[in-house]
Amino acid sequence: MRRIVTIYACVMLAVTALPAAPGRAAALVLEDERPATHRTARAGVRAIGGRVVHDFADLLIVDLPAGSELAAYRLRGVRQVVLAGAASTPRGAGASPGLAAWAAIASGGWRGDRGPLPGGPLDDDALAPPAVNLDAVLAAGRKLKDGGGVAPDAGTTGGPFGATAANTSEFLAGSVSLNVILVESDGSHEISTENWSSAREAEVVSRIALGAEWDRLQEPQAEVSFVYHVFTGRTDARARTGYEPIRHPADPSGLTGEDLWVKEILSKLGYASGDRFARVRALDADTRRADGTDWAVTVFVVDSLVDIDGKFADGRFAYSWIGGPHLVMTYDNGAWGSGRIDMVLRHELLHSFYAFDEYQASGCNCTDHRGYLDAVNLNCEVCNPLAASCVMISNDDAMCDATRRSVGWADLDGDGVIDVVGEDPDTVLDPLAAEQCAAPVLSGLATVVAAHDRNTFGVTPAVDISVNRIVGVEVRADGGAWSPADPEGSAWGAPQVRFAASVSGLAPGAHRLEARAIDDHGNSDGTPAAAEVLVASGAAAEGSGVRADRSDGAIALTWEACAGASFYRIYRRTTPGGDAILVGESDGTAFTDGAGGSGYYDVRPVDACGDERSD
Ligand SMILES: [Zn+2]
Repeated sequence: MRRIVTIYACVMLAVTALPAAPGRAAALVLEDERPATHRTARAGVRAIGGRVVHDFADLLIVDLPAGSELAAYRLRGVRQVVLAGAASTPRGAGASPGLAAWAAIASGGWRGDRGPLPGGPLDDDALAPPAVNLDAVLAAGRKLKDGGGVAPDAGTTGGPFGATAANTSEFLAGSVSLNVILVESDGSHEISTENWSSAREAEVVSRIALGAEWDRLQEPQAEVSFVYHVFTGRTDARARTGYEPIRHPADPSGLTGEDLWVKEILSKLGYASGDRFARVRALDADTRRADGTDWAVTVFVVDSLVDIDGKFADGRFAYSWIGGPHLVMTYDNGAWGSGRIDMVLRHELLHSFYAFDEYQASGCNCTDHRGYLDAVNLNCEVCNPLAASCVMISNDDAMCDATRRSVGWADLDGDGVIDVVGEDPDTVLDPLAAEQCAAPVLSGLATVVAAHDRNTFGVTPAVDISVNRIVGVEVRADGGAWSPADPEGSAWGAPQVRFAASVSGLAPGAHRLEARAIDDHGNSDGTPAAAEVLVASGAAAEGSGVRADRSDGAIALTWEACAGASFYRIYRRTTPGGDAILVGESDGTAFTDGAGGSGYYDVRPVDACGDERSD
C-alpha cells in the first residue's frame, strides 16, 4: 500500500544523511550457516546502523556504530558477539576460515615486522586476458545456483547499476564476492603429492582476508566489503582436479597449466561451456547475483607445501588477470612464504581492479594508462626515478596516488568524494498540473548516476557503472526545509526508486516545489527537480443578485452565476445576525427551499478546490 507522507511547509523537519561514525569492529558468530540466518543477521546489522565488512558462512565481521554493542547482542541469528579488543575469543576459534580470519584481523595481523621482504618482486604477474565474449559468459552462467554452490539471496540486484555480466571487477568500491578455491589433487590423472589440511585451509583464508582488509582500509570512501565463498577441495569434490597443478607450469597463456585444472574444476561447479575465462567470469557473475554484491573475483590457491620452491614448473607463483576474472596463488608464493599470503593477495587483487605493476622487472611504462578513471602508470620505477613507495612497486604498506587512481580512487571533479561513488543522483518528477487545489502530490523517480567509464583497456564492455544506492528523497516548498518522501512500492536501497510525497499547508498562490534524491555515499541531487504550481484560492467571485419568490409555502431562490463557482451552498438564518444553517446545494443558479417560512438567505459559491466564498 502506498503511504503518502504529508508535510507542512511551515514545519521544520531536518533530515540528515551522514555516513555512520567510525565504530568498533566485532565478530558476530552465526547460529548456523543457512542463507536465511545470514539474511536475518545482515538485516539486523543494517538496522542498528552497522556494516558487514567481511562475510563468511559462519561469521560476520562488522563495523558497529559507537554505542550499538548492546543491540548487537540481541540480533537474531547471532550466537555470539566478540568485540575487537575484548578478552574473549569466538568459541572454536581457528576451526573455520571465518573464525581464523577474525582472529587475524582483530589482532592487526598485517602490522608488525615479518622480517625482511624477499629480494625478488612478484614476477611478471599482471596478465591481459582475452577480450570477453559476453555471449559465451551468458551461455556458461546461471548454473551455480543449481549446483548448490551459493544460495540465492533475496533482493539481489544482479550486479551494480549499468554493469553487464562481464563487468565483474571494474573499480574497487562497494561489495566484492571472493570465491576462494583451494585446489586439491585427487590422483585420477597423475600422482597426487600435495594435500591440504583443515588448519592450512583456515590459515590461507585468514591471510586472504587480511590482504583484503588491507585493501579495504586504504580508502574509506569506497566502502569496500567482502563476501567469501570457500571451496576446500579436501572436503568438496568440486574443487578437485586429477592433475597436481604445482608440478605443471602455470602457463597462463597456454594450455599446459591453469587451462587444465581450472576448466576441470569449473565444469564440476556447473560451468562446462566456453573457455576458462568465460567460465570463471560466469561464476563471478552468478556469485555476485546470488550475493547481491557489486563485484566478484575468484582466487585459486594451489597447494605447494611439499613442492621445493613453492612455484609452478615455469617459475610462476602468483599472478592475476587484469580486470578479472581470477587470480592464482600458490600456498608458499615462492620466497614470500605462506606468512605473507596477505601481502601477495592484496597486490594481486588490485590487479583484478586494473592496478598497474610499478616494479622495474615488470617492464612498466609511464605512458601506459587504463582503469575506470583511465589512470596513467606514473609511479612506474622504470621511468620515474622518484617513484613512491607503493603496494604495486615492492608490496610496501603504502598506496601511491597512481595506484589509487588505477582502481578508481581519485577525486577528479574535486567535489571531495572519489569519482566512482561521487556522482550526484538524479531526480525526475512526474508531470504535475500547473494548477493545484490543495496538497500537491510530488512523485517521480530517483536514480543513481554513474561516473563515466574511461577505461581504454578494452577487455570488458565499456559501460558506465554505479555501485551507489538511493537511500532517500527529500521535498520542499519555496526553498523551505527539506522533508522526507516515501519510497513507492519498494524500499530504499536500490539504484532506482520511485517516490511520492504530499506537500500540504500551502497558502493560495504560486509555489515552487522541489525534490532531491540522496544516495548511500552522501551525495544529493545538486540540481533538484522542480515544479511551479499555482495553488488556487477561494477564487469564485462573490455571489450577487439573489432573488427570492414565495410560492406554495416554499421559497424559490435564483441568483446571478459567479465566476469560478463549481456549485453553490445555500444557507438560511432566522435573523440577520443569526446562525447560518445549510439548507442545500445547487449546481445551477436556482434552489427551492421547501421548508422555508421566512428568513434570510446566503448563497455562497464554492470553487473547484472546494473553497467556499463567504464574504
Ligand atoms: Zn603485480
